[in-house]
Amino acid sequence: MRTITHFIAGADAPQSLARTADVYNPSTGQIQAQVQLADPAHLDRAVSDAKAAQVEWAAQNPQRRARVMFRFKELIERHMDELAELLSLEHGKVIADSKGDIQRGLEVVEFTCGIPHLIKGEYTEGAGPGIDVYSTRQPLGVVAGITPFNFPAMIPLWMCAPAIACGNAFILKPSERDPSVPVRLAQLALEAGLPAGILNVVHGDKEIVDAILDHKDIKAVSFVGSSDIAQYVYGRGAANGKRMQCMGGAKNHGIILPDADLDQAVADIIGAAYGSAGERCMALPVVTPVGTATAEALRAKLMTAIEGLRVGVSTDPDAHYGPVVGAAHKAKVESYIQMAVDEGAELVVDGRGFSLQGYEEGFFLAPTLIDHVKPHMQSYQDEIFGPVLQILRAETFEEALRYPSEHQYGNGVAIFTRNGDAARKFASQVEVGMVGINVPIPVPVAYHSFGGWKRSGFGDLDQYGMDGVRFYTRTKKITQRWPTGGAVIDQSFVIPTMK
Ligand code: NAD
Repeated sequence: MRTITHFIAGADAPQSLARTADVYNPSTGQIQAQVQLADPAHLDRAVSDAKAAQVEWAAQNPQRRARVMFRFKELIERHMDELAELLSLEHGKVIADSKGDIQRGLEVVEFTCGIPHLIKGEYTEGAGPGIDVYSTRQPLGVVAGITPFNFPAMIPLWMCAPAIACGNAFILKPSERDPSVPVRLAQLALEAGLPAGILNVVHGDKEIVDAILDHKDIKAVSFVGSSDIAQYVYGRGAANGKRMQCMGGAKNHGIILPDADLDQAVADIIGAAYGSAGERCMALPVVTPVGTATAEALRAKLMTAIEGLRVGVSTDPDAHYGPVVGAAHKAKVESYIQMAVDEGAELVVDGRGFSLQGYEEGFFLAPTLIDHVKPHMQSYQDEIFGPVLQILRAETFEEALRYPSEHQYGNGVAIFTRNGDAARKFASQVEVGMVGINVPIPVPVAYHSFGGWKRSGFGDLDQYGMDGVRFYTRTKKITQRWPTGGAVIDQSFVIPTMK
């Protein structure tokens, strides 16, 4: 059986006597590899190699670092098919979706090709008599990223691309459930000319996450995953004096106003609810139609659309989505469907009990549709993270605005309408970090930044875009005056002002 090892200082770094975790092929339900789980000593080695390499990397002029990013981008493009196959094999999402995962990460790499411009500081000439003030952006040193299973290319690239382009060394701790693509990306970065030790992959579970959070030489940690763990990671890292950004879970609503283009909205919602088996933090697992007539029309169209969905193995080019990531996760999603029934919601389409011929052990779930969900229900309050769409009906616009605003999560939300006034009011007032107007999955492009509110995001700075550059640099502010050969300026015991 294949063993997946760490990638440290530019080379595979197997451990003897390592603990391991099973890596499944979710389509077959079979174990296909074992990933080694690092112990703190292995992390120490990675950090000390990274620390040594970082000094020289940071000293390179930013244009040289940009050239590496350009080559990295080209290599990812060239290896797109290989990366997508590897990704689908471990995650279970269909190949086209895996390419989207890689592409969205690639766009962040593309953004960081402009790093010389992005890290330029500011300058004020003549801020006082003979005095100039300027600021520079300097890298932090060794930084780390801890990533979830659901985007094994995009999220590592969200983090490592700005980090390394800014001149840091990066330790990536990817999800132990689909660890191969992150390693392959680190190999490609090395091939692109990134010095050994600047991008390292250390696999592991809670033990290594804690070691990262406690490591004195790791200056900042970026985390993406579920909210309870995000909050824990944020608290422990911050208590150790590190700069932290921690993105958590989600429960995104799609609001349907009576004047929406319903056919288009249904097409958008079906893709956003069931694509990637619902395992996206920007999925739309809740739809909120306003008014009974809208709800009835929407429900009828959703049922028809669901009939046309094809669930298949990740390599099936005709499948709309594949299996969920694992057996335990499948059981969790099924238990939420039962919970909704027990809480009094109406199970309109039941996706449990689905079996794919020839792949009976795969972790498949057919689409589920649940109507008459109420805000107090636990199955609504929690993130389910599977191919389950809940209908939470509202009578008025104000009620529909309130539901996502009052929910514990505040990652994304979408409103479908032809009414510009209503859309504008909604976008302005809703308590959610990312808003789509007739756009189902409003993941901001690479030159903006990504981040949710409330329990979807802990910390001040978002992922990628200029916030990514800010997170991975610290500004130094320099106030200078050069001798002019004139009279000595009298000593002063008063705080200097520029009066
Ligand atoms: P997860 O929280 O289980 O794991 C995330 C990372 O934390 C992994 O690297 C894992 O090894 C590590 N980890 C797991 N248990 C830990 C523990 N007890 N202590 C410390 N570290 C631990 O998340 P997941 O299941 O891999 O990913 C799905 C979750 O991520 C969903 O909640 C989803 O909404 C969220 N997510 C959020 C965003 C966002 O940007 N807001 C993006 C993608 C995914």
